[in-house]
Amino acid sequence: MALTELVHSDDDRLPTKALVIVAHPDDIDFGVAGTVATFTDHGVEVVYALVTSGQAGEPDDLTPAELTEIRQAEQTAAAKVVGVTEIHWLGFPDGAIVADLELRKALSRVIRIVKPDLVITHTPERNWDRIYAAHPDHLATGEAVTAAVYPDARNGHSFPELLAEGHAPHAVPRLWLMAGTDNTVHVDISASIERKIEALLQHHSQNDGRAEALPDLIREWSATSAADAGIGAEAVEGFRLVRTE
Ligand SMILES: [Zn+2]
Repeated sequence: MALTELVHSDDDRLPTKALVIVAHPDDIDFGVAGTVATFTDHGVEVVYALVTSGQAGEPDDLTPAELTEIRQAEQTAAAKVVGVTEIHWLGFPDGAIVADLELRKALSRVIRIVKPDLVITHTPERNWDRIYAAHPDHLATGEAVTAAVYPDARNGHSFPELLAEGHAPHAVPRLWLMAGTDNTVHVDISASIERKIEALLQHHSQNDGRAEALPDLIREWSATSAADAGIGAEAVEGFRLVRTE
């Protein structure tokens, strides 16, 4: 199937290069890995940027440096499953992300380096029906990424030091928000859902404890999203489209 038949929205513009920006390792694989696999299957280049390396997670007996190494290796393996090899690690503190100017500058830098025509990130709005998706790090990341997409990355007066580093302004025309409400883009991931599950299972340090239940959980969520979308697909990932041009 052509990509235009798999991405259901009222937007006539499909991406050629997407940058997915999230707070933690495995956020991409829960939220968007089926779409990533669909994109890479159809020649759309996808790059990841992670604000933290998940270094404040469990188990408690590992140091942050050990957790960083493990989580980065797991995310790298998961990325490979869905056709992604370029990952930018921004190195902010796990559990303590703030949507401040320092983060907006780091995000603007990575946007100017990657030059995507689509950015996908967390919604900055708390969804009261899905409180687990509304981790404070996710909300802060969503807010800072939105500010970096509009106006920071495209504005030559924002962070003049980036210009001095050689990073010219770049305007991203589309932003897709995940885990929010009022989704307006529905991607048919029926052909990629098994790879999404395989990608999630690469996060051994986070998911081995629920590895048996996870595949059915993902299938159930994706089927619910498909039913909500009403596009006749078996499995769907949904996003809210924001036009920024
Ligand atoms: Zn997360």
